[in-house]
Parts: sequence; structure tokens; C-alpha cells
Amino acid sequence: MADCALSQPGWCGAQRIRDSIQSKKGSRSSWIWASLWEAKKVINMGAIRVIDSGEDTWIGQDPWIPNLQNFVIGSGPQQNLKVKEWIDPVSRNWNVDMLQGNVTREEEEAILKVPIGEEGSEDLWAWSLTREGEFSVRTAYHAVHKANTNFQSNGSEEKWKWIWGLNIPPKLKFFIWRCSRDGLATRARLFQRKCAPNPSCQVCHNPIESLNHCLFYCPHASEAWTSSFPSLPIPPPGTSFFDWFCSLQDTIPQNYLIHIIYLCWNIWKARNECTFKNRIPWPPNVCLQTYRELTEWIACPRPPPQGSDGPTQLRGSHPSTNPPPSSHSIVIQCDGSFFSDPQSAAYGVVVVNHHGQVSDGRAENILCSTPMEAEAKALLEGIKLAQEYGSVCTVQSDCQMLVKALNHNQSRWPWRCPAWIRTMVNILRNNPAISVEEVPRALNVRADWVARSKAKSNLPDDWINILDLISVLL
Ligand SMILES: [Zn+2]
Repeated sequence: MADCALSQPGWCGAQRIRDSIQSKKGSRSSWIWASLWEAKKVINMGAIRVIDSGEDTWIGQDPWIPNLQNFVIGSGPQQNLKVKEWIDPVSRNWNVDMLQGNVTREEEEAILKVPIGEEGSEDLWAWSLTREGEFSVRTAYHAVHKANTNFQSNGSEEKWKWIWGLNIPPKLKFFIWRCSRDGLATRARLFQRKCAPNPSCQVCHNPIESLNHCLFYCPHASEAWTSSFPSLPIPPPGTSFFDWFCSLQDTIPQNYLIHIIYLCWNIWKARNECTFKNRIPWPPNVCLQTYRELTEWIACPRPPPQGSDGPTQLRGSHPSTNPPPSSHSIVIQCDGSFFSDPQSAAYGVVVVNHHGQVSDGRAENILCSTPMEAEAKALLEGIKLAQEYGSVCTVQSDCQMLVKALNHNQSRWPWRCPAWIRTMVNILRNNPAISVEEVPRALNVRADWVARSKAKSNLPDDWINILDLISVLL
């Protein structure tokens, strides 16, 4: 993991940020500073002032005494004094008379061990959790983890263990942690702290921008969820993010869960782009960016996370990207897309030749009333196309229920579309060279993009020719 140096020369930027965090909450009202204020909790777990002149460190507010708990004085009302007031300007030693009148014996002993530097020199911040004082994400992460383990001793520690053990990048663990603690700097939170003039959503002007509004209810977020996980229940009003997220533990496969986390992350990023840069969130972009980051993460081989029962499916053995099919076969990828408001649906079928390149495809708008029907129609068209080809074909879908229904010859089929399933079963029975398999959604991005674009009426005419190029972005 790349560590970010807080020591010179990178120290200076971190110093300014840290100083700003340290400033009083109300003194800066902009969003970015308020966000940094949020990060203060994490920074405070390891940051300490290194006294030099003592001229710019507050005695009672700053953490500066290494041998005290949290590095701060707990005894006296020295809120408006700088550390230099306790330093003898001539001898450059601690003024023991001042100390004895103001701090406990234990604090005095600890302070006397703090080295004093030159007059006029600058006190600096250091990261106490590394030997060199350099900030590292890894140590911050462990500090947060430890704090949470201590904090959560009321039966939910297993859930925290599960969250920290998820096979996702540390920045996303932080993100989920902050969501779980309602720690994102939403407008509602900022308003509570007098850091925002009102609590309303900057994207849709809903009166209250809560965490769940940002991530689930705001129209752009809601559309991203509908597109990516049409049947996933988002948290009902009154349900905390943490409870909702934990409820997924037993119901959602790990690879989908990671997809869900990436989607939350990208919805939040899109919201911030709107807040900071006035860029209106565009849900298809949010979904595409989510896919891109997700596939990058899946493609990157890594050791299993410590303490995790984790996703074996995503480790190593998992194909890194859309793999080229074996030389004697073609792969047909299918996906359906369904939007409820306004209602539109389409399917996309993509033929991948033995070089791994897109060579053919179908896309069409369809009339249906559920995402499942769109998926079934897509798979049906894919299987029909495989029949036309008459060669060894693997038809792929990310709809687990449909693939199961076909492969296990179940008598109970999704009730919405039994006729299509029956047709598929018959074609498969008469064409043993055609097989159907389930793929994770993240590996079905090309068909997904085609179906989605078709449903939104923005699929280019020459999409078959350009899909390989576009795939790089998906
Ligand atoms: Zn909104």
C-alpha cells in the first residue's frame, strides 16, 4: 500500500490540512473543510503536535504530550494559552512553577519529558503510529479498526469483523465504516453543525439530504440502483445504513455485495461532483464507472484479506476480465435492461468470437413489465442466435434464477415468463452444442451496456463495430 508521507516536503500540505481541521468548526463553513472536520476523528487517533517553540500549539486543545492518554491535558482550563507560555524564554526549559500550578503531578512529569526547540521555530504535526512520524493509510486503518472493535462490544462486533474483512480496497472499507456510523458529511449533518446554511439536497432540492437520501432516494441514486440492482430492496425509511448493509450479509453473494459497495461509493462521488463542480449526476455514467472500478479490482490478483472468511470466488481463480472463449466455440453474452420511470426495456446480445472480439449482436426494444422478463427475453434471443450459428456456443447471462431454471430443468420457473422459458428448454434439448452459464454481472458489461443504451434510445447504429473500443471504458 502506498503510504503518504506527512514528513517533509509533503508535510507542509498535510500541515495546512491538519491546521484547518484543528480550527474551530464554525470558523469555516465550506463543505470541503466540513468534510475534513469529519476526517478529524480518524486523524486524531494518531496525530500529535511536535513541540519546537511552542508558539503555535494550544495547551489545552492540541494533542502534544506523548506520555498522556490521547496526548492531551485533562486537568486545567488552559484553553487560551499557547505552550510557549509554559516555557522559560531565557533558559528554554519548562517553567516548573507554571506547571505545578496548572497540571496534575502525572501531567507535569509527562510534560517535563517533552523536548523544547528554538524560539521562533515552528511546531509540526507528526503521525504517532509510525516510527518516522509519517502518515500511513495502513496504520490509520488499523487504528480505526481497533477503535471500532473496542467500541462495538454489544453483540455487533461480528458484523464489524465481517465489514473489515470484506475483500475490498481500504478506502472503501473506510467509506462503508463512515456510512455505517452516519459519518458522511451530508447537508443534514453539516446543517446540524452549523456548517451549511440549510439541510437541503443540492442535487434535487429535497428538503433534507440525509445519508440515505444521498445514497438511495435522490433521483440520480435511485435510478442507478434500479439499473444495477432492479430487485434489491433499498433501505426503507427509518432503517439505518448499517442495519441495511448488515442485512445483506446472508442474502447477497460476495461478488454482488462488492458491486453494491462500489455503487454506493460512485453515487457518493457523483453527488460530490455536483456539490463541488456543478456537474449534474448522470446515472449511466455512475453505473459505468462502477463497473470499471469493480472489474479493475476483480482483475487485480491479491492475497486474501486477514480475518476474512471472504469471497473465494473473486480470488485468483476468477477470470480477470471477459476471457476469450476457447478456440472451437463462441460465446454469446445476453442481458436485459428495464427502467420503470418512464418505462422502457430492451435486450442486448453480444457474440464474442474465439479471439475474444465482438463479431455480431442483436439489440431490440421490448415491451415487458419486470426486469426478469427483460432478462428472459435477452436469454431467449441469445439462445436463438446460438441456434442460427449452429456451432458450439456458450450463452451467458447474469440472471442466476433463469440459468438455474434452464440447467436444472426445474418444474418451477419464474412465473412471469414461462412461455419463453419453455421455448428455451426446447431449443436446448434439441441442440446439445449450446450450453447456458451464469456469469457475474461485472463480467457481462458489454451486453449490459448494449441493453441499457438501447432502452435509453442512445445505442449508436454501429455499436457492433465500436463495442470492443467501448469495452475498455466499461
Ligand atoms: Zn437529492
